This record gives sequence, C-alpha cells and structure tokens, in this order.
Amino acid sequence: MIWTSPHQQNMNNTTKTKTMKQLVLILAVLALYSCTEANVVKEKTKYVVKDEYDPLEVVVMDSCEYLYGDWSNATVLTHKGNCKNHK
Ligand SMILES: [Zn+2]
Repeated sequence: MIWTSPHQQNMNNTTKTKTMKQLVLILAVLALYSCTEANVVKEKTKYVVKDEYDPLEVVVMDSCEYLYGDWSNATVLTHKGNCKNHK
C-alpha cells in the first residue's frame, strides 16, 4: 500500500475532475460531428456516365430514388423519376 497525505489525494481528485471535463467536451464535439454523418442507403449501379468515372449510385430518401455521382471534379445528385412513389 502506498501512503498518500490528504493533500496529495485532493490534488489527484482535481486532476480527475479536469480529465472528466475534457472527456465530456470531446464527446460533445464528437456528437456534434456525428450529425453530419451519411445516413442514407446508397447502392452502386452498373451505369457509368463517362469513361473512367465511377458508376452512378442510387440513394434512397423518403422512398424516392436519386442518382448520385461523386467524382473528383463534380458531384451530382438528381431525382431518378421512376421510383415507386410516382407509379
Ligand atoms: Zn421519386
């Protein structure tokens, strides 16, 4: 057993509280960032609109389908138009 004076124990508690506060702050920041995380269903398609471009993806929002192309020089998101909502 390591003997510590009451003064030293008090110091340790202060450090712990500080660490806890920092942890809470980090968690709060993480929670803030997680709000902008992708939360849609994305599916790769076979459609390639330009040579060497990645195939288009289909994104579903409120049961509407959108064509999504994410390329280095452009990003496209457009309503597919033939989803089951409109039939
Ligand atoms: Zn639609």
